[in-house]
Amino acid sequence: MGDEGVKRRRSRIAGISPASACRRTDCQLKRRWLTWRLFGLAYERILAMNILVTGGAGYVGSHAIKRLVGAGHKVVVIDNLVYGHRAAVGDTPLGVGDLSDRPLVEKLLAEHAIEAVMHFAAYAYVGESVTDPAKYYQNNIVGTLSLLDAMVATGVKKLVFSSTCATYGEPTTVPIPEDHPQSPINPYGFTKLVIEHAMADYRRAYGLSYAALRYFNASGAAADGTIGEDHKPETHLIPLVLDVALGKREHITVFGDDYPTADGTCIRDYIHVDDLGDAHVAAIEKLGAGDDGEPVELRVNVGTGNGASVREVIAACEKATGKPIAVVDVRRREGDPLELVADPYGAERLLGWRAKHTDINETVASAWRWHESHPDGYADR
Ligand code: UDP
Repeated sequence: MGDEGVKRRRSRIAGISPASACRRTDCQLKRRWLTWRLFGLAYERILAMNILVTGGAGYVGSHAIKRLVGAGHKVVVIDNLVYGHRAAVGDTPLGVGDLSDRPLVEKLLAEHAIEAVMHFAAYAYVGESVTDPAKYYQNNIVGTLSLLDAMVATGVKKLVFSSTCATYGEPTTVPIPEDHPQSPINPYGFTKLVIEHAMADYRRAYGLSYAALRYFNASGAAADGTIGEDHKPETHLIPLVLDVALGKREHITVFGDDYPTADGTCIRDYIHVDDLGDAHVAAIEKLGAGDDGEPVELRVNVGTGNGASVREVIAACEKATGKPIAVVDVRRREGDPLELVADPYGAERLLGWRAKHTDINETVASAWRWHESHPDGYADR
């Protein structure tokens, strides 16, 4: 008996004709599909959050927004646009103002029914934090405390905070695990550490769930080429080297060639900014999952676990751009630790996240795609 025959016989047994059997199967499939779709939508709705992103017009913040929106979350930004770029935010709603503007922050939290905050807004020039600490204490500490109090006042209890490996200071073990002692060697790192302590106290007292993500060296640019790194002034290694390739600078100054490393230069863990964005998505979803129990507390290194020396980064830039890079060696820069590389296993364990871009050549190539197509960055100042 052929397939048709079998179908007809089975249909007769069930008391239905082959045509109606097909219709019924279609119907069942459609119903099943609809059930799964509704289940999926409900699941997304449960996980999807309204998120206020502070400093969303900046480098890391703008990349994180893309990943958050891609994951189904609804985002509202607050940024004072001192260093940020309006164009980096795209069509995400943006409130322009300072974190210390309590009425503005509370209005945004309430009007958009915000359930969680991602706090990127901060000053982050290490050298400037030494010469003008008041600026850093005021913005990074006082501004953040004002944000925390606005959250408490409006009942928003989830916070993902941009912390930094600079809270460790000069590490005694590398790769650096999360339980490494924190002993920052500059005011910038200290302001971030103060907020880590404040969040722990707010958790105990007010039930705040938080994740402190300790970034290593954020680098690269969004895969779709729409946003990238544009700091003015620029102090970071990769964009400065790419400026040499673009002919905007004559050479790159290498700070110290006498460190006890293979080529004498400092080693850093360059984490792709898209990976960094995904770590934020993983962190906020972990905080969301803790709704029914104890407030969540996460302290996580966000790095690749691989180190690259300054000279290796320059070589990667030569490879990506196809241009020779002129180098001038100078004395060590004050406050530069010898080697900062993340132990990546904490992030895997705590967030279920690991970096996808682990090759410095790939990360630099993505940065070059942005710089080559945007030689003046966002060209807004
Ligand atoms: N660096 C350098 N020349 C520069 C800028 C940076 O040699 O013009 C080195 C710096 O000493 C450090 C590494 O590059 O070892 C990364 O520095 P960056 O400022 O990008 O990030 P940091 O590690 O200071 O946060």
